Amino acid sequence: MIGKKIEALIPCDLEDGLTLLQKYASDCAPLAGGTDLVVLLKSGLGRHVKYLLDISHLAELTSLEVECLHVRLGSIITHNAIATSQLLEDIACLRLAAESIGSPQIRNMGTLGGNLANASPAADLYPPLIVLGARATLQSHRSRREVLVEDLPTGPGSTVIQPDEILTDVDFEIPSQPFYSGYLKIGLRNSLAISVASAALVATFANGRFEEVRLACGAVAPTAMRMKGVENLVMGEQPSPELFREAAHVASTECDPISDIRASRRYRRHVTGVIVSRLLAEASRLAGVERGDD
Ligand SMILES: Cc1cc2nc3c(=O)[nH]c(=O)nc-3n(C[C@H](O)[C@H](O)[C@H](O)COP(=O)(O)OP(=O)(O)OC[C@H]3O[C@@H](n4cnc5c(N)ncnc54)[C@H](O)[C@@H]3O)c2cc1C
Repeated sequence: MIGKKIEALIPCDLEDGLTLLQKYASDCAPLAGGTDLVVLLKSGLGRHVKYLLDISHLAELTSLEVECLHVRLGSIITHNAIATSQLLEDIACLRLAAESIGSPQIRNMGTLGGNLANASPAADLYPPLIVLGARATLQSHRSRREVLVEDLPTGPGSTVIQPDEILTDVDFEIPSQPFYSGYLKIGLRNSLAISVASAALVATFANGRFEEVRLACGAVAPTAMRMKGVENLVMGEQPSPELFREAAHVASTECDPISDIRASRRYRRHVTGVIVSRLLAEASRLAGVERGDD
Protein backbone atom coordinates (compact mmCIF):
# COMPACT_ATOMS: atom_id res chain seq x y z
CA MET A 1 0.00 0.00 0.00
CA ILE A 2 1.17 3.54 -0.79
CA GLY A 3 -0.31 6.33 1.33
CA LYS A 4 -3.79 5.71 2.74
CA LYS A 5 -5.62 3.61 0.21
CA ILE A 6 -3.45 3.31 -2.85
CA GLU A 7 -2.35 -0.13 -3.96
CA ALA A 8 0.68 -0.72 -6.19
CA LEU A 9 0.22 -3.07 -9.14
CA ILE A 10 3.52 -4.51 -10.39
CA PRO A 11 3.14 -6.17 -13.80
CA CYS A 12 5.73 -8.65 -15.04
CA ASP A 13 5.63 -7.33 -18.62
CA LEU A 14 3.75 -4.86 -20.85
CA GLU A 15 1.03 -7.37 -21.75
CA ASP A 16 0.40 -8.01 -18.05
CA GLY A 17 0.39 -4.25 -17.41
CA LEU A 18 -2.18 -3.61 -20.14
CA THR A 19 -4.40 -6.38 -18.75
CA LEU A 20 -4.24 -4.84 -15.27
CA LEU A 21 -4.90 -1.39 -16.67
CA GLN A 22 -7.96 -2.64 -18.54
CA LYS A 23 -9.28 -4.18 -15.31
CA TYR A 24 -8.68 -1.16 -13.06
CA ALA A 25 -8.69 1.66 -15.67
CA SER A 26 -11.05 4.12 -14.00
CA ASP A 27 -9.22 3.98 -10.64
CA CYS A 28 -5.67 3.44 -11.87
CA ALA A 29 -2.75 5.64 -12.96
CA PRO A 30 0.48 4.45 -14.58
CA LEU A 31 3.50 5.31 -12.45
CA ALA A 32 6.77 5.97 -14.32
CA GLY A 33 9.28 8.24 -12.50
CA GLY A 34 6.64 9.58 -10.11
CA THR A 35 8.03 13.14 -10.20
CA ASP A 36 4.65 14.58 -11.18
CA LEU A 37 2.29 11.88 -9.95
CA VAL A 38 3.60 11.57 -6.40
CA VAL A 39 3.51 15.34 -5.98
CA LEU A 40 -0.08 15.35 -7.25
CA LEU A 41 -1.18 12.56 -4.92
CA LYS A 42 0.55 14.13 -1.92
CA SER A 43 -1.23 17.41 -2.64
CA GLY A 44 -4.55 15.62 -2.21
CA LEU A 45 -5.49 15.81 -5.88
CA GLY A 46 -6.01 12.60 -7.83
CA ARG A 47 -8.40 11.28 -5.18
CA HIS A 48 -9.89 8.82 -7.69
CA VAL A 49 -6.55 6.96 -7.87
CA LYS A 50 -6.80 3.70 -5.95
CA TYR A 51 -4.16 1.77 -7.88
CA LEU A 52 -0.76 2.75 -9.22
CA LEU A 53 0.42 0.63 -12.13
CA ASP A 54 4.21 0.59 -11.83
CA ILE A 55 5.58 0.67 -15.39
CA SER A 56 9.04 1.91 -14.40
CA HIS A 57 10.74 -1.50 -14.90
CA LEU A 58 9.04 -2.70 -18.11
CA ALA A 59 11.74 -3.71 -20.60
CA GLU A 60 9.41 -3.10 -23.59
CA LEU A 61 9.39 0.65 -22.78
CA THR A 62 13.14 1.25 -22.60
CA SER A 63 14.23 1.44 -26.26
CA LEU A 64 16.51 4.20 -27.46
CA GLU A 65 17.23 3.36 -31.10
CA VAL A 66 18.35 5.28 -34.16
CA GLU A 67 18.23 3.26 -37.38
CA CYS A 68 18.38 4.74 -40.90
CA LEU A 69 17.35 8.20 -39.63
CA HIS A 70 14.42 6.69 -37.72
CA VAL A 71 14.43 7.39 -33.98
CA ARG A 72 12.44 5.29 -31.52
CA LEU A 73 12.31 6.27 -27.86
CA GLY A 74 10.63 4.10 -25.24
CA SER A 75 8.34 6.00 -22.93
CA ILE A 76 10.23 5.29 -19.69
CA ILE A 77 13.59 6.56 -20.85
CA THR A 78 14.66 9.35 -18.56
CA HIS A 79 15.48 12.96 -19.38
CA ASN A 80 19.06 12.19 -18.44
CA ALA A 81 19.20 9.31 -20.95
CA ILE A 82 18.00 11.68 -23.69
CA ALA A 83 20.39 14.45 -22.65
CA THR A 84 23.45 12.22 -22.57
CA SER A 85 22.82 9.76 -25.41
CA GLN A 86 25.46 9.94 -28.14
CA LEU A 87 22.83 8.66 -30.59
CA LEU A 88 20.78 11.81 -30.01
CA GLU A 89 23.71 14.22 -29.80
CA ASP A 90 22.97 15.92 -33.15
CA ILE A 91 19.29 16.50 -32.36
CA ALA A 92 20.10 19.62 -30.40
CA CYS A 93 16.52 20.77 -29.79
CA LEU A 94 15.63 17.54 -27.98
CA ARG A 95 18.93 17.16 -26.15
CA LEU A 96 18.90 20.76 -24.88
CA ALA A 97 15.26 20.53 -23.77
CA ALA A 98 15.96 17.34 -21.79
CA GLU A 99 19.10 18.92 -20.32
CA SER A 100 17.06 21.93 -19.14
CA ILE A 101 14.57 19.94 -17.06
CA GLY A 102 14.59 20.30 -13.27
CA SER A 103 17.68 19.07 -11.45
CA PRO A 104 19.91 15.98 -11.82
CA GLN A 105 17.56 14.11 -9.46
CA ILE A 106 14.49 14.99 -11.54
CA ARG A 107 16.29 14.18 -14.81
CA ASN A 108 17.30 10.77 -13.45
CA MET A 109 13.74 9.88 -12.43
CA GLY A 110 11.47 11.83 -14.78
CA THR A 111 10.56 10.13 -18.05
CA LEU A 112 9.64 11.09 -21.59
CA GLY A 113 6.21 9.42 -21.34
CA GLY A 114 5.46 11.06 -17.99
CA ASN A 115 6.37 14.49 -19.34
CA LEU A 116 3.96 14.07 -22.29
CA ALA A 117 1.15 12.33 -20.36
CA ASN A 118 1.24 14.94 -17.59
CA ALA A 119 0.70 17.58 -20.30
CA SER A 120 1.83 20.69 -18.47
CA PRO A 121 1.71 23.64 -20.91
CA ALA A 122 5.34 24.23 -19.82
CA ALA A 123 6.52 20.62 -20.31
CA ASP A 124 9.92 20.93 -21.94
CA LEU A 125 9.75 17.92 -24.26
CA TYR A 126 6.66 19.01 -26.19
CA PRO A 127 8.17 21.83 -28.34
CA PRO A 128 11.14 19.78 -29.64
CA LEU A 129 9.05 16.69 -30.34
CA ILE A 130 6.45 18.82 -32.14
CA VAL A 131 9.04 20.40 -34.45
CA LEU A 132 10.52 16.95 -35.13
CA GLY A 133 7.05 15.76 -36.24
CA ALA A 134 7.12 13.00 -33.59
CA ARG A 135 4.34 10.43 -33.18
CA ALA A 136 3.35 8.77 -29.90
CA THR A 137 2.18 5.16 -29.79
CA LEU A 138 -0.70 4.50 -27.42
CA GLN A 139 -1.41 0.90 -26.57
CA SER A 140 -4.26 -0.73 -24.68
CA HIS A 141 -5.17 -4.37 -24.15
CA ARG A 142 -7.38 -4.22 -27.25
CA SER A 143 -5.77 -1.68 -29.59
CA ARG A 144 -2.68 0.17 -30.70
CA ARG A 145 -2.76 3.62 -32.30
CA GLU A 146 -0.41 6.43 -33.25
CA VAL A 147 -1.05 10.09 -32.51
CA LEU A 148 1.08 13.08 -33.47
CA VAL A 149 2.71 14.44 -30.31
CA GLU A 150 1.28 17.80 -31.38
CA ASP A 151 -2.24 16.32 -31.06
CA LEU A 152 -1.72 14.56 -27.69
CA PRO A 153 -2.59 17.40 -25.28
CA THR A 154 -6.13 18.73 -25.18
CA GLY A 155 -5.50 21.34 -22.47
CA PRO A 156 -3.44 21.87 -19.32
CA GLY A 157 -3.05 18.43 -17.70
CA SER A 158 -5.26 16.59 -20.18
CA THR A 159 -4.51 14.45 -23.22
CA VAL A 160 -6.19 12.10 -25.67
CA ILE A 161 -4.64 9.13 -23.79
CA GLN A 162 -7.51 6.91 -22.62
CA PRO A 163 -7.57 5.47 -19.07
CA ASP A 164 -6.77 1.97 -20.39
CA GLU A 165 -3.89 3.17 -22.61
CA ILE A 166 -0.16 3.37 -22.00
CA LEU A 167 2.07 5.63 -24.05
CA THR A 168 4.67 3.09 -25.13
CA ASP A 169 6.98 4.85 -27.64
CA VAL A 170 7.75 8.07 -29.42
CA ASP A 171 9.04 7.92 -33.03
CA PHE A 172 10.34 10.51 -35.45
CA GLU A 173 12.50 10.83 -38.57
CA ILE A 174 15.73 12.82 -38.53
CA PRO A 175 15.72 15.23 -41.54
CA SER A 176 17.78 13.70 -44.38
CA GLN A 177 19.42 17.00 -45.36
CA PRO A 178 21.62 19.16 -43.09
CA PHE A 179 19.43 20.83 -40.50
CA TYR A 180 19.90 23.23 -37.62
CA SER A 181 17.95 22.88 -34.42
CA GLY A 182 17.86 24.45 -31.02
CA TYR A 183 15.88 24.97 -27.83
CA LEU A 184 15.68 28.03 -25.62
CA LYS A 185 13.83 28.33 -22.35
CA ILE A 186 13.27 31.32 -20.10
CA GLY A 187 12.79 30.48 -16.42
CA LEU A 188 12.99 32.47 -13.23
CA ARG A 189 16.41 31.00 -12.41
CA ASN A 190 19.02 28.81 -14.09
CA SER A 191 18.15 25.44 -12.62
CA LEU A 192 15.02 23.79 -11.22
CA ALA A 193 13.03 26.29 -13.28
CA ILE A 194 9.72 25.62 -14.95
CA SER A 195 9.54 27.45 -18.30
CA VAL A 196 8.03 30.92 -18.40
CA ALA A 197 8.36 30.59 -22.17
CA SER A 198 10.21 28.09 -24.35
CA ALA A 199 10.83 27.58 -28.06
CA ALA A 200 12.21 24.80 -30.26
CA LEU A 201 13.31 25.19 -33.87
CA VAL A 202 14.26 22.89 -36.73
CA ALA A 203 15.37 24.69 -39.90
CA THR A 204 16.98 23.84 -43.22
CA PHE A 205 18.51 26.32 -45.65
CA ALA A 206 18.85 26.47 -49.45
CA ASN A 207 20.67 29.12 -51.49
CA GLY A 208 21.27 31.28 -48.43
CA ARG A 209 17.59 31.35 -47.48
CA PHE A 210 15.41 29.61 -44.91
CA GLU A 211 13.87 26.58 -46.59
CA GLU A 212 11.88 24.30 -44.24
CA VAL A 213 11.19 25.88 -40.82
CA ARG A 214 9.33 24.28 -37.92
CA LEU A 215 8.92 26.27 -34.74
CA ALA A 216 6.97 25.47 -31.57
CA CYS A 217 6.62 27.27 -28.26
CA GLY A 218 5.74 26.08 -24.75
CA ALA A 219 4.21 27.77 -21.69
CA VAL A 220 2.55 30.48 -23.78
CA ALA A 221 -0.80 28.79 -24.53
CA PRO A 222 -2.93 26.04 -22.93
CA THR A 223 -0.84 23.49 -24.85
CA ALA A 224 2.52 23.72 -26.63
CA MET A 225 1.86 25.32 -30.02
CA ARG A 226 3.26 25.39 -33.56
CA MET A 227 4.10 28.97 -34.54
CA LYS A 228 2.83 28.84 -38.12
CA GLY A 229 2.75 32.63 -38.54
CA VAL A 230 6.50 32.82 -37.88
CA GLU A 231 7.19 29.75 -40.04
CA ASN A 232 5.32 31.28 -42.99
CA LEU A 233 7.04 34.62 -42.49
CA VAL A 234 10.59 33.28 -42.65
CA MET A 235 10.38 30.37 -45.12
CA GLY A 236 12.02 31.35 -48.42
CA GLU A 237 13.51 34.50 -46.89
CA GLN A 238 17.12 35.51 -46.50
CA PRO A 239 18.09 35.65 -42.81
CA SER A 240 18.68 39.23 -41.65
CA PRO A 241 18.35 41.28 -38.45
CA GLU A 242 15.17 42.90 -39.87
CA LEU A 243 13.63 39.48 -40.52
CA PHE A 244 14.47 38.34 -36.98
CA ARG A 245 12.88 41.51 -35.55
CA GLU A 246 9.74 40.93 -37.60
CA ALA A 247 9.68 37.27 -36.51
CA ALA A 248 9.91 38.37 -32.87
CA HIS A 249 6.92 40.65 -33.37
CA VAL A 250 4.85 37.93 -35.08
CA ALA A 251 5.78 35.39 -32.37
CA SER A 252 4.78 37.71 -29.56
CA THR A 253 1.37 38.33 -31.11
CA GLU A 254 0.81 34.72 -32.24
CA CYS A 255 1.20 33.22 -28.75
CA ASP A 256 -1.64 33.41 -26.23
CA PRO A 257 -0.16 33.23 -22.72
CA ILE A 258 -1.74 33.69 -19.32
CA SER A 259 -0.52 35.71 -16.34
CA ASP A 260 0.33 33.54 -13.34
CA ILE A 261 2.72 33.43 -10.37
CA ARG A 262 5.71 33.04 -12.70
CA ALA A 263 5.11 35.85 -15.18
CA SER A 264 2.59 38.23 -16.67
CA ARG A 265 0.99 37.69 -20.07
CA ARG A 266 2.80 40.78 -21.34
CA TYR A 267 6.23 39.56 -20.22
CA ARG A 268 5.62 36.11 -21.70
CA ARG A 269 4.69 37.66 -25.05
CA HIS A 270 7.84 39.79 -25.00
CA VAL A 271 10.27 36.96 -24.13
CA THR A 272 8.65 34.63 -26.66
CA GLY A 273 9.63 37.11 -29.36
CA VAL A 274 13.13 37.36 -27.93
CA ILE A 275 13.80 33.59 -27.84
CA VAL A 276 12.26 33.01 -31.27
CA SER A 277 14.46 35.66 -32.90
CA ARG A 278 17.52 34.30 -31.07
CA LEU A 279 16.85 30.77 -32.30
CA LEU A 280 16.42 31.94 -35.91
CA ALA A 281 19.60 34.02 -35.71
CA GLU A 282 21.61 31.19 -34.15
CA ALA A 283 20.46 28.67 -36.80
CA SER A 284 21.42 31.16 -39.56
CA ARG A 285 24.79 31.77 -37.97
CA LEU A 286 25.50 28.03 -37.70
CA ALA A 287 24.45 27.58 -41.33
CA GLY A 288 26.75 30.48 -42.30
CA VAL A 289 23.99 32.40 -44.10
CA GLU A 290 23.23 35.37 -41.82
CA ARG A 291 23.38 38.84 -43.41
CA GLY A 292 24.47 41.56 -40.96
CA ASP A 293 22.97 45.09 -40.70
CA ASP A 294 23.83 47.01 -43.89
C1 LIG B 1 11.17 19.74 -8.59
C2 LIG B 1 10.59 19.47 -9.95
C3 LIG B 1 11.10 20.14 -11.07
C4 LIG B 1 10.59 19.90 -12.34
N1 LIG B 1 11.09 20.59 -13.41
C5 LIG B 1 10.58 20.37 -14.64
C6 LIG B 1 11.09 21.09 -15.76
O1 LIG B 1 12.02 21.91 -15.68
N2 LIG B 1 10.53 20.85 -16.98
C7 LIG B 1 9.51 19.93 -17.14
O2 LIG B 1 9.05 19.76 -18.28
N3 LIG B 1 9.01 19.24 -16.09
C8 LIG B 1 9.51 19.43 -14.86
N4 LIG B 1 9.00 18.74 -13.78
C9 LIG B 1 7.89 17.83 -14.00
C10 LIG B 1 8.27 16.33 -14.17
O3 LIG B 1 9.52 16.03 -13.63
C11 LIG B 1 8.26 15.88 -15.63
O4 LIG B 1 7.03 16.19 -16.25
C12 LIG B 1 8.53 14.39 -15.77
O5 LIG B 1 8.90 14.13 -17.09
C13 LIG B 1 7.34 13.49 -15.43
O6 LIG B 1 7.74 12.15 -15.70
P1 LIG B 1 7.53 11.00 -14.63
O7 LIG B 1 8.09 9.77 -15.23
O8 LIG B 1 8.07 11.39 -13.31
O9 LIG B 1 5.93 10.94 -14.61
P2 LIG B 1 4.98 10.39 -13.45
O10 LIG B 1 4.98 11.34 -12.30
O11 LIG B 1 5.27 8.97 -13.15
O12 LIG B 1 3.59 10.48 -14.24
C14 LIG B 1 3.05 11.72 -14.64
C15 LIG B 1 1.66 11.48 -15.25
O13 LIG B 1 1.77 10.76 -16.47
C16 LIG B 1 1.12 9.48 -16.40
N5 LIG B 1 2.02 8.57 -17.10
C17 LIG B 1 3.35 8.41 -16.87
N6 LIG B 1 3.89 7.60 -17.79
C18 LIG B 1 2.88 7.25 -18.62
C19 LIG B 1 2.82 6.42 -19.78
N7 LIG B 1 3.90 5.82 -20.30
N8 LIG B 1 1.62 6.26 -20.40
C20 LIG B 1 0.51 6.87 -19.91
N9 LIG B 1 0.51 7.68 -18.82
C21 LIG B 1 1.68 7.85 -18.19
C22 LIG B 1 0.95 9.21 -14.91
O14 LIG B 1 -0.16 8.35 -14.67
C23 LIG B 1 0.75 10.62 -14.39
O15 LIG B 1 -0.57 11.02 -14.62
C24 LIG B 1 9.51 18.96 -12.51
C25 LIG B 1 9.01 18.26 -11.39
C26 LIG B 1 9.55 18.52 -10.12
C27 LIG B 1 8.98 17.76 -8.94
